[in-house]
Amino acid sequence: MIKVRNLCKSYGSIHALKDVTFHIDDGEIVGLLGPNGAGKTTAIKTLTGYLQPESGTVLVDGIDVLSHPREVQARLGYLPESAPLYPELSVQAYLKMMADLREIPRDDQPARLSEAIYATGLANHLTRPIGELSKGFRQRVGLAQAILHKPKLLILDEPTVGLDPTQIVEIRRLIRRLARHSTILFSTHILSEVEALCDRVIILMNGEIRADARLSDLAQTSDVIMVLQKSAPRVAETLTSVTGVRGVEPFATRDGFPAFRVLGEENTDLSPQLFDIAHQNQWQVRELRRDVQTLERVFNNLAVAA
Ligand code: ATP
Repeated sequence: MIKVRNLCKSYGSIHALKDVTFHIDDGEIVGLLGPNGAGKTTAIKTLTGYLQPESGTVLVDGIDVLSHPREVQARLGYLPESAPLYPELSVQAYLKMMADLREIPRDDQPARLSEAIYATGLANHLTRPIGELSKGFRQRVGLAQAILHKPKLLILDEPTVGLDPTQIVEIRRLIRRLARHSTILFSTHILSEVEALCDRVIILMNGEIRADARLSDLAQTSDVIMVLQKSAPRVAETLTSVTGVRGVEPFATRDGFPAFRVLGEENTDLSPQLFDIAHQNQWQVRELRRDVQTLERVFNNLAVAA
């Protein structure tokens, strides 16, 4: 659905995007995660054809955004960081205006409008001026305009920024519903947003992609946690001598059982070997599992390394 290659964009001396390359398949919901100033908005504006990069290519549904921005914009739904809503217009009047601007044929408009209004839960707010709505409902109006023309691709720039916790839950629920019919790329600086909404994340820092992976793969480590029923002699030394082990960190579990974090070399799964060794040494194993890391740990490690 989206193919981005070697995208570069600078503002004077600030390199906002440095050789950014990624792709998003049909039906995926992908989070573009990064701290403030990472380049998320710049990337999104470039993908949607509202900003020209210095170099690189962007294909959306096979169409080159740089040479055919209008065609691409007609196919995608875009919620900018601050949606240009008109405060004096009623919700209904605004959405009708957007339907006209989108050139949705008159005959199709009633059905499209009611679908978007139903999907975003705006039915009871149609006659209210947009300026009087809460921020959460204004965001819903922004989403309603983005899905009016039933786009196959939705691009949302920080869709929950500035919302209260209840509104955040509602907008996330709405995004999840929209994901049943569209490919979605959204930007955020909130780790829990990515965990709540998607199974793949692209982490952008200082204009560079630092990670692009499924959350389950990011969480996976090569370390193994072994918990014993009771202590045994020379466990740490024995484990350290195993091929593929970088180190062993003994610790006690919360309920007091002797435990060992066995640090594995990259891309190894030590579990079967450790299980055999425990068996040979007659250690009573209470638990043996691959260690996982949180997205927060991944993100912090990348930030420290940057
Ligand atoms: P945030 O989460 O704070 O919105 P972001 O990840 O969306 O940040 P961008 O807004 O893309 O980041 O900004 C990337 C870098 O480019 C920042 O250093 C920013 O200051 C700079 N920048 C963005 N827009 C402009 C502009 N119009 N003129 C000059 N510098 C800009």
